[in-house]
Formats: sequence, structure tokens, C-alpha cells
Amino acid sequence: MESVLVSPANYNLFGFLPLFLVALLLTVGGITAFIYIAVRRLAPLLRANPDPRFDRIPERIFGFLRIWLLQWRHPRYIRAGVIHILLFAGFLVLGAQTISMMFWGISENFSLPFMSGPLGHVYNIIKNYAGTWVLIVVVIAAYRRAISKPERYLVPPKYGKDHTSEAILVLGFIATLMITENLFDASLIAANMQKGLHAEFRPPLTLVWFFTPLLKSASLSFLQGLHLVAYYIHDIIFFVFVCFLPFGKHFHVVTAIPNVFFKRLDTGTVKPVKHGVTDEQLDDLESFGVKKFEDFTWKHMLDFYTCVDCGRCSDNCPANAVGRPLSPRFISIKGRDYAFKHYPLNGKLVEGEPLIGSIYDEDEIWSCTTCGACEQECPVTIEYINKIVDLRRGMVDEGMVPQSLQKPLSALEKRGNPWGKMERKRADWAKDKEFAAETSVKLFEKKESADVLYFVDSISSFDDRMQEVAQSTARVLAAAGEDFGILGKTEKDSGHEARRFGEEMLFMDLRDQNSDAIAAFDPKKIVTSDPHAYNALKNDYTDMPPVEHISQTILQKVKSGQLKLKPVEDAAKVYTYHDPCYLGRHNKIYDEPREALDSIPGLRRVEMARYRDRSFCCGGGGLMLFYEPEEEQRMGVLRVQMADEAGANVIVTACPFCLVNMEDAIKVAGLDGKMEAIDLAELIDRHTAD
Ligand code: SF4
Ligand code: SF4
Repeated sequence: MESVLVSPANYNLFGFLPLFLVALLLTVGGITAFIYIAVRRLAPLLRANPDPRFDRIPERIFGFLRIWLLQWRHPRYIRAGVIHILLFAGFLVLGAQTISMMFWGISENFSLPFMSGPLGHVYNIIKNYAGTWVLIVVVIAAYRRAISKPERYLVPPKYGKDHTSEAILVLGFIATLMITENLFDASLIAANMQKGLHAEFRPPLTLVWFFTPLLKSASLSFLQGLHLVAYYIHDIIFFVFVCFLPFGKHFHVVTAIPNVFFKRLDTGTVKPVKHGVTDEQLDDLESFGVKKFEDFTWKHMLDFYTCVDCGRCSDNCPANAVGRPLSPRFISIKGRDYAFKHYPLNGKLVEGEPLIGSIYDEDEIWSCTTCGACEQECPVTIEYINKIVDLRRGMVDEGMVPQSLQKPLSALEKRGNPWGKMERKRADWAKDKEFAAETSVKLFEKKESADVLYFVDSISSFDDRMQEVAQSTARVLAAAGEDFGILGKTEKDSGHEARRFGEEMLFMDLRDQNSDAIAAFDPKKIVTSDPHAYNALKNDYTDMPPVEHISQTILQKVKSGQLKLKPVEDAAKVYTYHDPCYLGRHNKIYDEPREALDSIPGLRRVEMARYRDRSFCCGGGGLMLFYEPEEEQRMGVLRVQMADEAGANVIVTACPFCLVNMEDAIKVAGLDGKMEAIDLAELIDRHTAD
């Protein structure tokens, strides 16, 4: 197309220096520098532990399209989400334009296949709007980062320096790119208009539409200068921006693509101690878990590079909320900083420094309840539970186990329960005279068999209060017509928490004993009222018959008419349901307990501010009950306050550990008499029609 201005590719500076050489140098230099930096950043990943993630490709593609391309998780924070989606969409649209501009400095006629003809015109209109909305969004984002500063962006002093300046610098780069690109176009259009030549269409209200009238009466030499200067500022900033990415959180622009593609596909379970090493070979391992940086898997290192520093994980982390020394965001940031420091761009790579005591603290790693809120929220699918469990495995291997956990762990090993109670007492709740007079529970230890195995697990077997939940569960199963029994003294703790506390060998021992007992009982299905047992049997054990949580059984039986419920005892009470982490987030069982509750005629139910996949952990179950963390308040207290704020006076849980924490928290929060907690099985038991 005829043009008044000389293009950057054809311009000779001072009449003899072809500018295309400068563009060529910038392009080759920029790309080479980026490749060099990226390869150096890859160095730790090449020394990392293996992690096979090339399985289930269709599922991975689907997840990638949903989470990366459609930015599925971003609107969970609506303002920040919309800003990010607009920026991301703008980047996708402007990618073709940016590549073209890079080459226009070398060859005036460079064109991507779809950028000429009618498709090119449509693209031009879209990219003009994209450039404009990106600039507007950049201004809003800069205001949020620098002035309004949402709390989750703040960096507590103990975690180092604030990252605002990096964010503002990058937003400045993007704004400059948008402005220079449009000045480059507008100067050409203005010059062509002056000479009556064809002028590109300027979509209304776009940057080019604003700039062109401002330049219409400028001299041709000014427009020529502006055209070239805008081009080269754009080119230089573009390569500076690209090469700056691997120096901080903006590396996610690149690493989020593989990170989301290789995301963890299964929730509930934890990674093996070492991929490719069988259970039988574990004894031969010289070291367990993560002790030094290189013990992480390559995917976990990629996570560190990908963290956007958005603070969503920590904003939802119950440990962080109650002042425990854990903020998941900084697990990533500290990991990334470690990689940058020990794997520098120039010079020797430093390997092998122990992580605990240098960048992570023991209490920080023990503070996690493995509730999964952080992983649920992260827009770029960063994992925490596996990393934390791996770090705990390393600490256990080094004998770094908190004092308060040593006794329950040793009791688990000796007696199969953390309280150290005698095995023969495990079924005492079922032998209680009053209870047994009404409900008969078959006992495997008496060689009785049944279709359904009720797996009770330790807390409901031994804790006085939770034995009431076990009895309610048994009565509900009996009322629903199930032929069921329990393992009795042959049942051991499911080992769920032992595994998550890094005691893999102990977990394997408990799992094997339970698996043998279950295989000998040979049930058609297993029912449990404990979400931790449910999760272990379903996701940690192998070759199990179908496993159900009691809430699922209740709902099926109500729907089939085998379980009939009478109207709510006290219609004035307002109920709310607390999602246990290992039922909800880890196993996606959200609806069944709610529907089971709603099937009690006349029951009034409200939702708390945080519910379903944003539920707030009660404080953790299993061994967490024995751990005494440093904290400002209890998670359970925050949770019962949420129930109070929702206008509820009964919290219904579906997990014995939640019930312990809630009942305790009600007292601590001073809500005794105003609020009560009850297990779903107990509530259904009370409302079973005769
Ligand atoms: S799993 Fe829960 S407690 Fe642990 S870091 Fe994540 S949000 Fe915090
Ligand atoms: S881990 Fe994910 S949610 Fe947490 S700060 Fe990083 S990007 Fe945000």
C-alpha cells in the first residue's frame, strides 16, 4: 500500500545507516537473551525428582483450556478476575500484532497469513479495541497495586520486601507498548491523510482514534520521526519486557502454560514418596521426602516459578487467618527466591542446602491442616499439600517431629490408634448394653459377615462423645435396612493423618492391616461417617469395594423410601451445614449432606459466608487434634462466628473431628446456650420415623 512515511525497515539513519540492521540486532539479541535466561531457569528442574505427568492427555487438554484459556478460576475474585481476564484476552489478541511489528522493522511487507484481506480488517478493528482496553485496565491495575492496595497483596515484614514496584514496572511496560503501538499507527494514518492517501479505518473510541486528530496538522518530518521513535521504543520495551519476565512473578506469563497443563488431576490423595519407587523398594531409599531444594519434583519447582503472588491462597488459608506461622503464598515465593539465588544466571549453581531452618520453619510446615483451600483457589493450579507432606516426610526422616505428636504417633504404631487404647476396646460402643438392646451390630471378630462394612475409625471408636456418633450411624444404617457389621478389634486407624503427617511407613502398615481385614470380611460396600477414613479408603487404599460416606447412604435411602424422616423437632431452630474439607473440597461431596438435611420436613437451613468449596477448615482432624500450634485464635472459633453471623443456631457437621472442634469452639467463643453442634448422622437418627 502506498504510504507517505518511510517504514522502519527501509529508513536509513543519517542517510546511510539502514535501520533494519538495528531491528535485526534487537530481535536476534532479545530472543537469544530470553532463551539463555529461560535455559538457566530450567537448570534446577533438570536436577529435580521425577514426576510423570504425561498421562490422561485429553483430560489435561480440557483442564488447560478451561483454566488457562478461559481463565476459569479468576472470577472467584470478581474485580481482580475481570481485570486479569481483560488483560489476558488483550494479550492473546495483540500477540499477532506484536509479532508482526517485530518483523516490520526487518521487512516492511511481513504479514501473518490472516492479517491481510477482509480478515485482516476485522483483526485490525479488534486489536485496536484490545490495545485500548488493555491500557485502561493497566491504569486500573496500577491504581489497585499502588494506591488502594487490597490486603492480600501486602507482604508482612517477616516475609521480606513488598513486590509492588515490580508490578508497577511491568504495568508501565505494558502501557508503553500500547501507547507506542498506537502512535506508530496514528502517525502513519495522519501523514497519509495529509497527502490524501488511503487512511486505515480508526474504530471509534480507540487509542488510534484519539491520537490521529491530534497529529493531523503536525509536520511530515515530525510524523516521520514519531513513526520511527514509537516503533523503536515499542521494540526495545518489548524485548526488555520479555527478558524481564523470568526475573520475578511475571514469569507466569510463560510458565503458567505448562504448569496448568501438568496440573494435579486427582484430589484427595498425596503423591508417593518417590515416583517410580514401589512400596517394597522404599526401605532401600537413603533419604525420605524433601530436605534440600533438589528433592522437590520438577513440577513443584515449576509451581514456584509460576506463582503470580496474587495472595488468593493465603487469603483462604485458615492457618494464615488464625495467625499460625504459615502463609502458602510465601512457601512459593521463598522457593522461587531460593531457586533464583542458588541457580544464578551467571556462575556456579549451588546445590544441597537444607530447606528447613533456612527458608522454611518447622512450625510453618506443621501448621497446615491439608484442607486444600489454597489449591482450590489458585488461578494457576499451584500445589501445596504434596509439597508440605514431602517436607514433613523429610522432617520425620530427620527426627524433627513436634513433641506433642510423638506420643500419638508411637501409639498409632503400637496400638493402631493415637490414644494408645487397647485394641479389644475398639467395639465397646457397639457392646454398650442400652444401645445393643435396640440395635444389633455384627462383629467380624465373632466371625459374623455382612453386606456392608461400617468402617468406624479411631475417634468414633474411642472418644466418649464420638461414640454417640458411631451409635447414631449404626441406628441409621439399621433403620435403612442395611445388613452391616464392623471389624471390631481387627480395625486399625485408617492412617489418613499419619500419611499426611509424613509417616508413610506407618501409614502403609495400617493400610495393609486394614486391607487384609477388609478383604477377609469381604463386604459389598463400605460405609463410614468419618470423611478422613472415607478419603483414605477411597483415595489412598487400593482394591477396595465401593466406599460411601454416611451422608450419601442416607440420601439414597431417603430417596428410595427405605429411610423415612419425621418433621423437625424444633422448627424455631436455624441450621447451617459446615463442609468438612475431606468430604467437600477433596471429594466434591457438597450436595448429598445438604439434600439429606433438607429432607427433614420443616428444617430451616442457611448457608454461611464461606461454604462448599470455600468452606473454612474447623482446625483439622486426626493428628491435628494433638498438635499445639502457635496461633492467635482457633480456626473453630472463626467458624462458629461465621455460623452465628449467618443467623444459625445449629451447626451440622458430617465429620467427628469437625464436631470435636466445633463443640470446643462454641465454648471458647462464648456461644454456649446460643449455638450447638451436631453430626448429620445424629440429626438424622433423631428424626428417623418409627
Ligand atoms: S492446605 Fe489449607 S492449611 Fe494448608 S496451606 Fe493450604 S489453605 Fe493453608
Ligand atoms: S500460589 Fe496461586 S493463589 Fe497463591 S499467590 Fe501464588 S498464584 Fe496466587
